[in-house]
Amino acid sequence: MIGFEFTPEQKRLQEKARRFAKEVILPVAARHDRDGTFPLDVMKKAHREGFLTPLVPKEYGGQGLGVLDNCIIAEELAAGCMGIYVSIFVSTLAIYPIIQFGTEDQKERFLKPICSKFSMASYCLSEVTVGSDPSSMKTTASLDGDHYLLNGTKMWITNGGYADYYLVFATMDPQKRHQGIICLIVPSHLEGVSHGEPIDKMGQRASNTTAVRFNQVRVPKDNLLAGEGEGFKKAMAALDITRPMIAIGAVGVARSAMELATRYAKKRIQFGVPIAEHQAIQFLLADMAKDIEAARLLVYKSAWLADRGVKNSQEAAMAKAFAADVAMRVTTDAVQIYGGLGYTKWHPVEKLMRDAKAIQIYEGTAQIMRLIIARQMLQEVERTF
Ligand SMILES: Cc1cc2nc3c(=O)[nH]c(=O)nc-3n(C[C@H](O)[C@H](O)[C@H](O)COP(=O)(O)OP(=O)(O)OC[C@H]3O[C@@H](n4cnc5c(N)ncnc54)[C@H](O)[C@@H]3O)c2cc1C
Repeated sequence: MIGFEFTPEQKRLQEKARRFAKEVILPVAARHDRDGTFPLDVMKKAHREGFLTPLVPKEYGGQGLGVLDNCIIAEELAAGCMGIYVSIFVSTLAIYPIIQFGTEDQKERFLKPICSKFSMASYCLSEVTVGSDPSSMKTTASLDGDHYLLNGTKMWITNGGYADYYLVFATMDPQKRHQGIICLIVPSHLEGVSHGEPIDKMGQRASNTTAVRFNQVRVPKDNLLAGEGEGFKKAMAALDITRPMIAIGAVGVARSAMELATRYAKKRIQFGVPIAEHQAIQFLLADMAKDIEAARLLVYKSAWLADRGVKNSQEAAMAKAFAADVAMRVTTDAVQIYGGLGYTKWHPVEKLMRDAKAIQIYEGTAQIMRLIIARQMLQEVERTF
């Protein structure tokens, strides 16, 4: 059976997140975008609302929500500001592998404190020379008694300057490529951990993105989340769960742009009538509405599969690729509808366009998403007829 109606609980979550976006995120979004500063106050409030730990089971102090439930929340937060939403989201990206693959001891040691006390986590996969192809990573780990010795620099780390915990992927043997990668939980207070200055980005400027360095960091063996042969698989498995949450962020950004553009088109008079009465503008608006709805449905399906424990790599990649492209197209068209005003800092549509661009790049680029989709298509041997 297919149902399109939210449960009363999902409606409550949506309302709560919408209120948070309106009252807490929107009033400060433009300032943090302009200054490129991190909204620490907003993050603390988000923690109190449980937005930083939505998928953590209740027994460890989290919200115990599903992926779809969290997507409903995420659309609202991202509609307020994608940079702030991604700062909230990234803790889930870093925590989820602990929920999915952690030992009981790791869940007790890391999930409980992350939920009970305001803290943030970061996901450290990328490096300066390692993006779409993590198998060539340079960060190394080697066993030294009861510890792993961690060395290397991670790049583009969201919340890098503020995280209390880093989920770090490193190689035990670069020759082994994917098979050599392990995953460690690294508290930021360990000696030898440091981070760079915030990177001055085009968009999502409220999010804090830095390099994170690990210099002879001694990580207890008990903090190993995934050993050789497992680290890469687990990194990718976690992305299948979190990609719908980024894709729905794109839906939130696009929705904001569409709402602004629609309102403006009804007010702006040219050739004696509101521009909304010109069919060319109506077509732009109609394409926005249909694409946003299609993107949302792709996200819901990929999230629904994730909640049922069904492998959703292809659906998550479709949702992420499609929604990110929709956000880019819709925000660009929103700028077009605003005309010259859209190209200024006086109106928020230019921010939405800058924010949208990053979604086509992180959590797997637009091209990598298509490779994942095509790979599965080419593997499938079933035929309908
Ligand atoms: C704002 C922001 C936040 C980020 N946050 C994090 C984070 O928290 N943690 C983290 O680990 N990383 C993070 N990243 C890094 C992000 O995941 C990478 O930028 C992304 O994976 C792409 O890697 P790259 O930049 O090295 O590009 P590259 O991999 O060098 O790719 C460059 C171009 O080549 C294309 N390309 C590469 N390989 C192929 C191929 N086989 N076929 C076709 N095209 C290809 C890509 O699609 C892209 O267009 C963040 C990035 C940004 C911009």
